[in-house]
Amino acid sequence: MWLRRALLALAAVFAIGFGPAVQAAHWPLPHSLCHAVSVMAQSPRAAPRSSYSCNGKPTGYQRGTLWLRVDLDTIPIPRNDLVLSIHNTRFDALSVGFVYADGVTAWQGVRGGDFGTHWRPGAQIAFAAPAREAPLRTIVLQFDRLTSYDLLRMRLATQGDGALEVVALAACVGAALMLLFIAALYNISLSFAVRRQFPAWQAAWAGCMVIWGAVWSQLNLFVLPGMAGSFSAQLCTGLSCLAVMLATFGAITALDRREIPVALRIATLALGIGIGALGVPLSFIRTGPLEFWASVLGMLVLADLTAITVSLTIAWRRGNALARDFAAAWAVPMITLGVTQFLPTDRLFWGGGSQMLVLLAATWQTIWVSVSATRRLGRLRVERDHALRAEAIAHDLARRDPLTGLRNRRGFTEAVEPMVARAIAGESPFALLLIDVDRFKAVNDTHGHDAGDQVLCIIAQQLERWEGALCLPARFGGEEFAMALSGLHTFAATQFAERLREDIAAADYDAVIGGGDITVSIGIASATEDADFQSLYRQADRSLYEAKRRGRDCVVASGPRPDDDLAVDMVA
Ligand code: GH3
Ligand code: MG
Ligand code: MG
Repeated sequence: MWLRRALLALAAVFAIGFGPAVQAAHWPLPHSLCHAVSVMAQSPRAAPRSSYSCNGKPTGYQRGTLWLRVDLDTIPIPRNDLVLSIHNTRFDALSVGFVYADGVTAWQGVRGGDFGTHWRPGAQIAFAAPAREAPLRTIVLQFDRLTSYDLLRMRLATQGDGALEVVALAACVGAALMLLFIAALYNISLSFAVRRQFPAWQAAWAGCMVIWGAVWSQLNLFVLPGMAGSFSAQLCTGLSCLAVMLATFGAITALDRREIPVALRIATLALGIGIGALGVPLSFIRTGPLEFWASVLGMLVLADLTAITVSLTIAWRRGNALARDFAAAWAVPMITLGVTQFLPTDRLFWGGGSQMLVLLAATWQTIWVSVSATRRLGRLRVERDHALRAEAIAHDLARRDPLTGLRNRRGFTEAVEPMVARAIAGESPFALLLIDVDRFKAVNDTHGHDAGDQVLCIIAQQLERWEGALCLPARFGGEEFAMALSGLHTFAATQFAERLREDIAAADYDAVIGGGDITVSIGIASATEDADFQSLYRQADRSLYEAKRRGRDCVVASGPRPDDDLAVDMVA
């Protein structure tokens, strides 16, 4: 259910990105521009020394100056109130000249380390054409040491549209970065909580994507304006390679070593490390066949993602629930990456393009992994609660007599400890009653063991009525019961035992043994400050023996003497 909602939300985000971009964008694509290349211009904003060519692509511009000319007569867009957005790329300096019909050229410019007021969140550099009476004819761009003409993206829009798009893009970037940041914090705390490696890698990947997103979208320029330009672009490439490496570690360490073939595991990790090791240094190269290296890296990334997919699928088929969650989490970034490699996605998100897609896909991935980890933890908690409950039941059963449901000897001795401790501390008196059924063998012999059992249950019910914080009944075994009384001195305990004896004798045994008498003998021992449970038990047993000796169906109480001999204090 929530999965469908999440997909709908993602679709809505994508729709926001596609909609206005398709309807309102005006893109002078680089290959439709006229271009001229020369050695580095001595004076900026000078005219090119060679003439413009309007066919093919410029070459040899990486160490020199590249001029581009946008002839507005070829673009169906209002001439006034225009803003030119350039997707930030690598160059040393850029000057933009707005050429008006009256021959005036208004120049604006940025250079590496100083984008002035021209940078916009979402990796754009914006140049607004000054409003003049004369119509705008041409726009001239002068790039010094541009890294790649092919990676250059430009966009013309009216200033009203441009402002709205910047706000929308900034909101998208901000939301994605915030979610990634929260996911990074969550995963790092999760890795400590569950002591597993993969949430730590997941946190590192999310953290890396946060930095990548902040640098790519130029939000870092709020605090570090000097980072503007090539250095930020290079850092972004390095960070994205690092992120792929961290994500690979995250996915592979989530799987059990035995679940995927060793060769596949090693190959996937090697691909991840290779992307990091190749991509980070490559990102700082300024000249040379950059497009070639970009496609090599792109291939490596696709191979890495394929290896991760295969690993996750194998582990999933072998029953790893974590692999299933990871596969679902990875599906969106993989599809997105495939889409950005093979489809023209640069126009999406008001020029945020493929990077914005990747940022959203990364957010999706890390949120999915976080949510599924939370769900798994939730299930573990439920299982743990069940186990604890089962353990508590087993613990209780081991301390209960199965026939009568009363505590057995073990349960009794454990439960009685605090009572004895209070008595030893002089806080509350304590008495132990041993209750033995008289001539019970005869009951068995006459009416059978089954009837004997039922008699024992009826006696247990008589004892159970008193069960509470100050009174603990138990069956010690055979036809022998016990009762611990807290708060009663010997006299009161004897009175109580007498009442118990009468209640048991008066209970209704007719249905079981047809009217025969059932009586019990009761021996009592009272605790003193130096009495432990064992010595109390011995005393109570002797009292009981004495009660039997005296003819049964009676109560005998004793208190200890220094020589531990029996001292009968009271006979009820
Ligand atoms: P006394 O008055 O001296 O205690 O005589 P008694 O017959 O009660 O004592 P004795 O120890 O000779 O016999 C106890 C009998 O209790 C023997 C045994 O068959 C019976 N008994 C012990 N456990 C159970 C039980 O769980 N169920 C039944 N039905 N009988 C039991
Ligand atoms: Mg008996
Ligand atoms: Mg007995």
